[in-house]
Amino acid sequence: MRRRDLLIGAAASALSCRAAAGPRRAPNIVLVLADDLGWGDVGVYGASAIRTPHLDRMAREGVRLTSAYSSANICTPSRAGMLTGRYPIRTGLGYDVIRQGDTHGLPLAEVTLAEMLKPDYATALVGKWHLGHAAPYWPPTVQGFDQFFGLPYSHDMKPLALYDSRGGELVREDVDSPYLTERFFARGLAFIEENRGRPFFLMLALTAPHYPLDPPPAFAGRSAAGAYGDVVEEMDAGVGRLLAKLKALGLDRDTLVIVTSDNGPWFEGSSGPWRDRKGGGGWEGGFRVPFIARQPGTIPPGLVSDAPSMNIDLTPTLAAWTGRAPPAVQLDGRDVSAVLTRKGAPSPHAELLFFNNEDVAGIRVGRWKYVTRSYYRDGELPLDAYDYGLLFDLAADPGETYNLASRRPEVLADMKARVARARAEFGPLAKGRRKP
Ligand code: MG
Repeated sequence: MRRRDLLIGAAASALSCRAAAGPRRAPNIVLVLADDLGWGDVGVYGASAIRTPHLDRMAREGVRLTSAYSSANICTPSRAGMLTGRYPIRTGLGYDVIRQGDTHGLPLAEVTLAEMLKPDYATALVGKWHLGHAAPYWPPTVQGFDQFFGLPYSHDMKPLALYDSRGGELVREDVDSPYLTERFFARGLAFIEENRGRPFFLMLALTAPHYPLDPPPAFAGRSAAGAYGDVVEEMDAGVGRLLAKLKALGLDRDTLVIVTSDNGPWFEGSSGPWRDRKGGGGWEGGFRVPFIARQPGTIPPGLVSDAPSMNIDLTPTLAAWTGRAPPAVQLDGRDVSAVLTRKGAPSPHAELLFFNNEDVAGIRVGRWKYVTRSYYRDGELPLDAYDYGLLFDLAADPGETYNLASRRPEVLADMKARVARARAEFGPLAKGRRKP
C-alpha cells in the first residue's frame, strides 16, 4: 500500500471514530409538520385503522412525547408560535386563521426558526405557509427561508396555486391535488441531497391530512380509515423515504428529525383519549399533538416522556441543540432538550396556557387542567365568567369528564389566580379582530 493511501485510510478511520462518538457537525434539522393530524392517528399512539410503520419505527428509535401541545387549536396561530417560540398572541396572529381576503401576516420583526439558524444553515420551507400571503409578509423567503416550494395557505382555500422560489423568481404553477404530498417529499429530499455537505434546516409542512382529502391512486383505498387514513399512510411512507435518504447519505446521526402536527384533528381523525378537537375551546383535543423525534446517537431509542411541552419550545430547544443563540426577544418556550434525551427529565414549564383566539381558554399545571372556554351550539361559552370554571385531574381523568373544582378549592384558587395573571399580561396584546 502506498503511503498516500495509508494516510487517507488513517484520516477516514479517525472520522468514523468521531462519527461513532456523536454528531460530526452542527446537526441538521428536519421538521415534518402534519396538518390537523390527530394524536390518535398514529400507530404508536394507539391507532388501529391506520398503519404507520415508519412513524412507529421512528418512535422506537427515538423519543415520543405524550404531552406535547400545539400553541393554538387552529393553524395560523399554531404555526406563528412554532416558528417564533412565543405565544401566538405576541405576534399579532392569535385571532382566527389568515383568510384569503386578509392582508396581515407574521411581522417581519419576529425572528423565525429559519432566521435563528441562518447564516450557517441552508433553510427551506416546503409545503404550507399560512402566515401571510400579501406583501410584505410573502413569500416565506422574507422570513429566513432560502427556498420556498409550496402553498400560501390551506389547500381548501381559493385561489390555490403552488409557488417555487428557486431561481430567485417566484414561479406559479397549478395544483395537482392528489400529488401534493408526493411532490413535497420529493422536493424536501432534493433539498437534503443538495445540502448534504453543510448544515440544513428543512421544514416540511405537509397539507395532509387536512381537508380536502385526496389520496393518490397508489394509496387510495389502502387504509381502514377512509381517505383520511389513506393520506396519513401516504405521509407515513414519505417519512420512511426521508429516513432512508438520510441513511443513504450517511446523515442519520447528524440529523434531528421531528414529526408533529399543527393542531388536533378536524372533522375526521382521532384525538385519542382527549376531549374535543381542532378549534374546540380550551379542551385537550385541540392542542394535544403527536410528537416524535429521532437522532441516533443523541436521542436514546425507545424513550417515552409525559412531560408537558409546547411547540413554542422548539425555538429555545433547537437553539441549544445546534449551539445557536436564541432570539433576543421575550420567549415563552423553554429548552426541552433534556426531555428529549433523558428518561424522566421533568418539564421546564410551571404552567402552559391554551389560547382560544386571544383569550386564555385553559391552563395546565402538572396533572391539573383548568378550562375556561367551550362551545355550545352556536357560540363560545365563557364558563369561568359564569363562575363555572372546570377543573380536571388529567392523570385520573384524561377525558376531562368530571369537574373537581368543588373538591379541590385550593387548586381551583391557584388556577384562577394564574389565569387572571395571564389575562392581565396578554389581554392588552389582543387585536380583537383578524386584521391588525
Ligand atoms: Mg391545521
